[in-house]
Amino acid sequence: MKEERKTLEQRAEMSDIERLRHSASHVLATAILKLWPEAQFAAGPPVENGFYYDVDLPHRISPDDFEKIEAEMKKEIKENHPFERMEVSRDEALEMGKKGRLAALSERPEPSKYKIDIIENIPPDEKISLYRNGDFIDLCAGPHVMRTGNVGAFKLTNVASAYYKGDEKNPQLQRVYGTAFKTKKELDDYFGMLEEAKKRDHRKLGKELELFVFDDDVGPGLPMFLPRGAVIADELEKLAKETEFAAGYQRVRTPHIARESMYKKSGHLPYYAESMFPPMELEDRLPSLSGQTAFSAVDDFGRQAGRPSAMSGETPDFHRYYLKAMNCPHHHKLFAAIPRSYRDLPLRLAEYGTYYRYEQSGELFGLMRVRSLQMNDAHLYMTPEQFETEFNAVNEMYLNYFKLFGIEKYLMRFSTHDPSKLGQKFVDEPELWKKTEEMTRNVLKRSGIEYVEVPNEAAFYGPKIDVQAWSAIGREFSIATNQVDFAQPRRFGLVYKDRDNIEKTPICIHRAPLGTHERFIGFLIEHYAGNFPLWLSPEQVRVLPIGDEAKVLDYSMSILNELRAHQVRAEIDESSDKINGKIQRAEQMKVHTMFVIGKRDLEADAVSVRVHGKGNLGATPRSEAIAEILHSIQERNG
Ligand SMILES: [Zn+2]
Ligand SMILES: [Zn+2]
Repeated sequence: MKEERKTLEQRAEMSDIERLRHSASHVLATAILKLWPEAQFAAGPPVENGFYYDVDLPHRISPDDFEKIEAEMKKEIKENHPFERMEVSRDEALEMGKKGRLAALSERPEPSKYKIDIIENIPPDEKISLYRNGDFIDLCAGPHVMRTGNVGAFKLTNVASAYYKGDEKNPQLQRVYGTAFKTKKELDDYFGMLEEAKKRDHRKLGKELELFVFDDDVGPGLPMFLPRGAVIADELEKLAKETEFAAGYQRVRTPHIARESMYKKSGHLPYYAESMFPPMELEDRLPSLSGQTAFSAVDDFGRQAGRPSAMSGETPDFHRYYLKAMNCPHHHKLFAAIPRSYRDLPLRLAEYGTYYRYEQSGELFGLMRVRSLQMNDAHLYMTPEQFETEFNAVNEMYLNYFKLFGIEKYLMRFSTHDPSKLGQKFVDEPELWKKTEEMTRNVLKRSGIEYVEVPNEAAFYGPKIDVQAWSAIGREFSIATNQVDFAQPRRFGLVYKDRDNIEKTPICIHRAPLGTHERFIGFLIEHYAGNFPLWLSPEQVRVLPIGDEAKVLDYSMSILNELRAHQVRAEIDESSDKINGKIQRAEQMKVHTMFVIGKRDLEADAVSVRVHGKGNLGATPRSEAIAEILHSIQERNG
């Protein structure tokens, strides 16, 4: 994919930290030139968590060079040169480029070839500006911080290769990455967080705690949950079902595939084709749903009725079936299956729906970017008058979940459309876009939830709200979405009879506060560092008998059975290991609670409670210890 050039408007929107990091890339280029004056530079933008500069240089830069490059950068920061802006004509800029004076400390024998190419691609009506810090002059639209001294604390992090403009037909450059912050403390905190994140990496813990696996014969991006991981998914589903039931949702079930006609109707084809798995071509006649032939028999070849029989003489129809890449169209069909009146609304259809996305193999990442997903999905159909109440209730549900999971920092990103892309990226309904965006914005404002508005990132059928959450160690995850849809109900011809007996189109809200199992469990693993609260813990209690006396073993077994009878996920370690070894093994698997059983416990009808990470809590009467476990699970507070 080719990299797009940033527009002037996008550049003007650079945040303070992006401005600082982009300025750091000028300082980086200055330092590289002090060491290797022949270096040729291409682009040096800020990126997520840092910045880079692409450099063409015969010397292969390695992390061993970072120290001396950083030393030169420090000098440039210490000299505190102002970033001076100069506007020049296209000819002047090209002239300087020919003399090698762009992205350089002085004129050079070789022209600044990448900068010349960039100038030639700047639209004729756009101004050309140069920025200078000390001797370094660069072609750049800005903006920057005031002086090099404002760059603060920085560190080079990586060097990789990259093609000029991301096109493999172009020369290969060296991309030197770094990051920068206002203060040394922020920089240290950032690297501290990365260090902790490494320990909490969900791929690493997923393996150690036996939560999920990938297998080459199953395919990349297709995670399988082991029993310990499946338990977490089951608990999340239980939570969702209870919460949604109380909020008046109804559950539905739908198949994993559908015909092409459905996705043409929804508009996912062609808008979304790239993210869908290629279709399966099937020979099947449109089945009659009137009942005469659809369920008649299995034909001579053992095939289900509804498919063309060899004797029928009918022209076979070919159909394309797609793996579903979203649950919405199936739910819309369920709305349409029964005549609806305003009295049926709001109608809230929920399903932990499985769907499949075709992600490029290079994009796949642990549980975060996968090809099969199970989503905490629901579609709410309502009248315009019901929108505010419903939308608010959905937001409330999000907030309650965040509280339960101890997610303290989150942000709602309200993505709107770009009017210049109607008919391409966004359905061509200018009035409806305006109306729904207005409604959504009003509800957000009135509810006092913190949000930012992001233009040009809406779904193709309506504005959406992405929820970004920060884990316990401050790592950012995008975990849930909430979308307002005015277009699909219309495309599907969904109607309800209003009070005045006139057919009207409902508004639809798509929402998934717990996101997909894959991403949400990935998030939770890192958030909790694998130390799940009791209610989510794959193994809630492990009973650890001391020694091998038959009476102690019997007593331990009776406790195990009692726990299991109450649906507690309990195991027993009957190995002949010493108790310390048993405890260590349970700690390693991050088992939430251990009941250590010795002779004295048996005599007192007690258990010695040990909680992972908290240590020994002492002997407790058996009935009390069990009641506490049950209560904590019930309340989801442990
Ligand atoms: Zn710049
Ligand atoms: Zn949907």
